[in-house]
Amino acid sequence: MGQYVAVFSKEVIAEMKKHYEDYLEAPPPGAVFCARTRHTVITAYGKSGKVLFQGEHPEMEAEKWSGDSGIVEKKPKVNKKPPEHSFAPPGSLFNNNHIGSDESGTGDYFGPITTCAVYVQAEQIEILRELGIQDSKVIKDKCIVELSQLLVEMNIPYSLMILHNEKYNRLQQSGWSQGKMKAMLHDSTIKSLLGKIRAEPLDGILIDQFCSPEIYLGHIASEGSRLDTRTYFMTKAENNSIAVAAGSVIARAAFLREMERLSKIAGVTLKKGASAKVDAVAARVIREKGESFLNQIAKVHFANTGKARGMV
Ligand code: MN
Repeated sequence: MGQYVAVFSKEVIAEMKKHYEDYLEAPPPGAVFCARTRHTVITAYGKSGKVLFQGEHPEMEAEKWSGDSGIVEKKPKVNKKPPEHSFAPPGSLFNNNHIGSDESGTGDYFGPITTCAVYVQAEQIEILRELGIQDSKVIKDKCIVELSQLLVEMNIPYSLMILHNEKYNRLQQSGWSQGKMKAMLHDSTIKSLLGKIRAEPLDGILIDQFCSPEIYLGHIASEGSRLDTRTYFMTKAENNSIAVAAGSVIARAAFLREMERLSKIAGVTLKKGASAKVDAVAARVIREKGESFLNQIAKVHFANTGKARGMV
């Protein structure tokens, strides 16, 4: 099945919706309409004006509408910096079948660390870019949740892991650095995804680099694991790899979901980050539930715990 994305004006989208009137289905979240004709599924996304055509010859259906709509053509940015280590990916990887892995929540006092690895095939790269998949740090929370749902609905293969606070705190107290936790999370997330896509072509695995590859290797070796030989490391990989960007979106969406769940059990809206506002929320939790409650909702070794204690 092929996929094709084009951008249209509001007027054209309204016209389309009328044209496909008899074929409308319940639209996915964020979509204006979704229609299923005999050969094509057409999904229009509101604010962006992007319309996704899926089917045997999606471009043929799209052509009916592309009169003066202006098909978007963006060239992927390619990092031109020279490699800093022998694990740098070849420039061709970003446009080939690859896995990208990223994490979220490491700098936030409240909430878990989440990691997500996503497998993207070469022919899906353009479409994911057009749908607005990019580094989660530049996307608003509401859009992150919608984009993450969109990726799941498109059946893009991925693995997601959540390191909940109790386990995080237990590992930290037993001497694990946050770096080791991240390395082990990426390692298991990637291996779980590799198990799901065994039959698919794979040109490489790209990890959004958070420590030197040597240190990463040391961390996973200390727990008896080895690096898949196709693995590459790169800082700011989400700017070059759509798979890493997609991983950053799903990981962040999972983090946001967890923050909502934890806010409910804490009885207060937990703030992201590690600022003074976070200290104030932690102080309130201590007053209302006792300090030991923080173990379930926070990374208690952060300086915020001491600051909050001082405010009670
Ligand atoms: Mn990252």
